[in-house]
Amino acid sequence: MSAPNKSYDPVEVEALKPQEIERMRDEAIAAFAAATDLEQLREARTAHGGDRSPLALANREIGALPPHAKADAGKRVGQARGAVNKAFKERQEQLEAERDARMLVEEAVDVSLPYDRIPAGARHPLTTLSERIEDIFTAMGYEVAEGPEVEAEWFNFDALNIGPDHPARTEQDTFFVRGPHGEEDSGVVLRTHTSPVQIRSMLDREPPVYVICPGRVYRTDELDATHTPVFHQVELLAVDEGLTMADLKGTLDHMVRELFGGEGMKTRLRPNHFPFTEPSAEMDMVCYVCRGESVGNPDRPCRTCSSEGWIELGGCGMVNPKVLVACGIDPEKYSGYAFGFGIERMLMFRHNVQDMRDMVEGDVRFTRPFGMEI
Ligand SMILES: [Zn+2]
Repeated sequence: MSAPNKSYDPVEVEALKPQEIERMRDEAIAAFAAATDLEQLREARTAHGGDRSPLALANREIGALPPHAKADAGKRVGQARGAVNKAFKERQEQLEAERDARMLVEEAVDVSLPYDRIPAGARHPLTTLSERIEDIFTAMGYEVAEGPEVEAEWFNFDALNIGPDHPARTEQDTFFVRGPHGEEDSGVVLRTHTSPVQIRSMLDREPPVYVICPGRVYRTDELDATHTPVFHQVELLAVDEGLTMADLKGTLDHMVRELFGGEGMKTRLRPNHFPFTEPSAEMDMVCYVCRGESVGNPDRPCRTCSSEGWIELGGCGMVNPKVLVACGIDPEKYSGYAFGFGIERMLMFRHNVQDMRDMVEGDVRFTRPFGMEI
């Protein structure tokens, strides 16, 4: 019983036995099913469907079979490999679909989550309030005028009828600037008010002059809740033929109506004295909270005005003829009115700011609530 090709009987080739091929096929399909991600599936495919896999090795044995046995073995191995390939593709599609679904969930954007944001800065309320006041007056035809903060004494004092002996010139109020060689009487100061801009405006222009002068001014005050050595003023000057206190009063009334809105906003004038105006007055505006209704009305007290009905705003008056003369303007032909007030003070009562230091310290927590007013 020895045939030359006995050893090629497929029954004798272990790897090509039908049950062996089924086992390899089932192992491969089970390995694909067990893969829980695409990486594991790739590894399973290398092990069970690659060039060195049992089925691939079995396939090589077919060539050695006698011709009559090749077809059967080839068919069995081919079917098994087809089934393995199909199982791989199906599992691959499943796992890819799972991955895509997971990515959709994991990478979904929750629009309600807080996000990293770069906070936008806010303009300082002193700037926006100052610009709002400028807008009121430029709408009426006034021109915004500016001048130097380091100013000649003549512009800051003399031209404004503040003589050399005036208390405002003493060192208690004024920052004097030393000269280039350390000399104390350099004649230069940090301006103590924006009034020198009025002088410069009158010297630069021929009447009529209508200017508003906002700007930074300096006094030798310690920084505390109600004082700061650097603060802001806005002053207004009108010089024309025939101007009277009535024009001044109407202008002030218009300003407080524009700034505080609503009915009943008005101003009143109380006699006072300033060197650069004659006559001079303190200007008050009606309390913008109670509109004066707290006066004599203990049932409706007002904290803003202490139930007085009025809030002090600043100083004003008709331009002193001496000031007009100093600026080369004929006081027989022209008259003028002027007023000025502090922006910090206006901001304090307009927005209930309690401490002036908040305005100076530059903390964005102070400026941000005022918003991005442009
Ligand atoms: Zn009030």
